[in-house]
Amino acid sequence: MRDAQERYLALFNAIDQGFCTIELAFDEQGTAIDYRFLEVSPSFERQTGIADGAGRWMREIAPDQNQFWFDTYGRVAQTGEPAHFESFSTPLDRWWDVYAFPISGERRVALLFRDISSQKRASEQLRESEARFREFGEAASDALRIADAKTGHLEYLSPAFERIWGEPRARVLRDIGRWAEFLHPDDRETGLSGMPRLLAGERVTNEYRIVRPDGEVRWILDVGFPVLDHSGRVVRVAGIAQDLTERRVAEEALRKSEQRLRELNATLERRVAERTAELSESERRFRGIFDSALQFMALLTPTGTVVEVNRTALAWSEITTDEIVGKPFWLAAPMRDDPALQASIQACVERAAAGETVREEHEMRGAGDARAIIDFSVKPVPGEGGKMLWLVAEGRDITELKQAQEALRQAQKMESMGQLTGGVAHDFNDLLTPIIGSLDMSVRRGVGNDRERRLVAGALQSAERAKTLVQRLLAFARRQPLQPTPVDLHTVIDGLAGLIESTLGPHITVNVRLAAELPPVSADPNQLEMALLNLAVNARDAMPEGGVLTIEARRESVGTGQRSPLRQGHYVLIRVSDTGVGMDKATVARAVEPFFSTKGIGRGTGLGLSMVHGLAAQLGGGLTIDSAPGRGTTVELGLPVSLAPIEAAESAATAPHERRERGTALLVDDEELVRMSTADMLMDLGFEVIETRSAEDSLRMVEQRGMPDVLVTDHLMPGMTGADLARTLRAKAADLPVLIVSGYAEATASRPICRASPSRSAMRSWRRRSRR
Ligand code: ADP
Ligand code: MG
Repeated sequence: MRDAQERYLALFNAIDQGFCTIELAFDEQGTAIDYRFLEVSPSFERQTGIADGAGRWMREIAPDQNQFWFDTYGRVAQTGEPAHFESFSTPLDRWWDVYAFPISGERRVALLFRDISSQKRASEQLRESEARFREFGEAASDALRIADAKTGHLEYLSPAFERIWGEPRARVLRDIGRWAEFLHPDDRETGLSGMPRLLAGERVTNEYRIVRPDGEVRWILDVGFPVLDHSGRVVRVAGIAQDLTERRVAEEALRKSEQRLRELNATLERRVAERTAELSESERRFRGIFDSALQFMALLTPTGTVVEVNRTALAWSEITTDEIVGKPFWLAAPMRDDPALQASIQACVERAAAGETVREEHEMRGAGDARAIIDFSVKPVPGEGGKMLWLVAEGRDITELKQAQEALRQAQKMESMGQLTGGVAHDFNDLLTPIIGSLDMSVRRGVGNDRERRLVAGALQSAERAKTLVQRLLAFARRQPLQPTPVDLHTVIDGLAGLIESTLGPHITVNVRLAAELPPVSADPNQLEMALLNLAVNARDAMPEGGVLTIEARRESVGTGQRSPLRQGHYVLIRVSDTGVGMDKATVARAVEPFFSTKGIGRGTGLGLSMVHGLAAQLGGGLTIDSAPGRGTTVELGLPVSLAPIEAAESAATAPHERRERGTALLVDDEELVRMSTADMLMDLGFEVIETRSAEDSLRMVEQRGMPDVLVTDHLMPGMTGADLARTLRAKAADLPVLIVSGYAEATASRPICRASPSRSAMRSWRRRSRR
């Protein structure tokens, strides 16, 4: 017994579980109200935390011990039925797993127990965290899920799932296969690819679409993660699924609007490019017009800074764009070094900027520094609201136009002056002829005493001077009888040089420079000599202190479109230049006017240049004067080249005058005085003169005395005219030389005087005779 007792004691002592016996205390109603520990095992203190428990009352140890403990132990003691339970002691703060069984006697119970507080607490915590998780899961807007790793069965699905997936979660929890069914066909692969990786312990983030039972498509962001046990094995997989649809829609909308924006941008860019191309095309077109305009054009800012210049203007002023663009317009080349012009151009610009269209004529400097008259204008270009945008400056070279206008004006003036002077001179000429004739006759006959003869000689001299004057006037009026013949200028000018030299005096050097090969010109040699003498005398007057007179002659051909005072054709230019005082512009402009002279009364007639001008014009040539004060004068006389060759026998003009028999001259004039003086001259020239007073008388005379050697007749007479008389006689003697004298230069015969033209030799001899 003792052995057995010792063995049990050893076991009792060695046992890890707590073991004790208690004795209960009941109240009158039989309710257990306390118990005390009788025997406790060595492990008792460790299992209960109560030191020296044996013999102590529970209420003493823990007055607030839960009633459960008293009731349970009371029941075991009273009923004799053992109990096994787990329970918590609030004051001792421990859990125990307890076996309670009765021992002999009504109030004793044996307890075998184990402190299970730590296990209890762990599972409590788990439960709590699970509850918290569940709470969180239930409230979360994302769908949470937990699945068993082995079976794949879903253990938990949060309510958000129903909202997102549109399906009761119970159906999915029951049937895991449904999960995959929701995946959008295009995203099925992605959606299912996560599982193997999760099971391998990886965390997986996925995006996929689902198709809800109602057909709606949603975007899901799914984050899955493995749940491991303490040994690191994957036991569960959890997941959070977020509905991305709205974000996706927003993103998609953003993407689309960005795309639209990009497209819009591209379209805009294309349109801009097209527009630019269009613009540059039209700009090119405008540029073309701008540049090819005959006007000079410039675009200015309202303050006058040059923005654009057209090519015409650049070419005209011989500058490049860089030299003018960006600079004030009035500093441009055409206004260079001319402060007065710059100021007036600036004023024009300012007026235009104020809204006025300005147009003025200005003399400017053009290509090669040539002065040009510019029709200049500045126009304002206002924009909307009247704000000034641009100014357009334009210019047109009207120099030639002005010159042409001036030339025309001059020509018209000359023409009317010519008509006027021509008429007067003509009458004077008619009056002078008998005066001179009578005086001449008186002189020849030696009428009167010495004193009377001197007086008559003086009168004749004056009359001859008057005649010269009248002849010059007629020359200017182009009414002088001209005999244009082919003239060799070498002969004429060389012959004249001596006379000019002596006229000009020793302090003036005369240079004659004629081109070696000069074609004959068509001119009247006497008049030409007169003209050259006139020019030489003018040169002399301009060089009172002496100087150089140069006479040159050269060929000149004027082609079509060539700028020349001469008409198209071939000419010889005779140039007479001096180193004299020259003329100012006003004098040059008026020099050829008849009676224009700067030389004072009694010194100049003002008829020299007008005669030269008239001669040139009558011969179909021209006269130009180039002069400036202090620079001398160059007068250029252009004479048309003669188409006929020069006749060899022209030397007769200079042959010594010799009196010889010339035969009979039939003289017809109704004017007694004129006839008398003419008869006298004819006799002087060696003719035997038969005088009649009418054509009819003459015919009778011819019948009586036969054909004369020459007929000299007035034209306008009472009865038959001189021309008709000539015709009648020419009918009988075709070779008869005829001289018709008339005061009316333009009264040409309506019918030809000669039916058959006289032979060349007859013409030549007649001409020679008549000249003399
Ligand atoms: P006049 O010689 O009788 O004055 P002209 O018709 O010959 O008349 O000349 C008209 C004017 O033209 C002259 O008075 C003179 O002023 C000017 N003139 C003509 N030739 C010259 C010259 N070589 N140099 C300067 N002035 C000239
Ligand atoms: Mg003169």
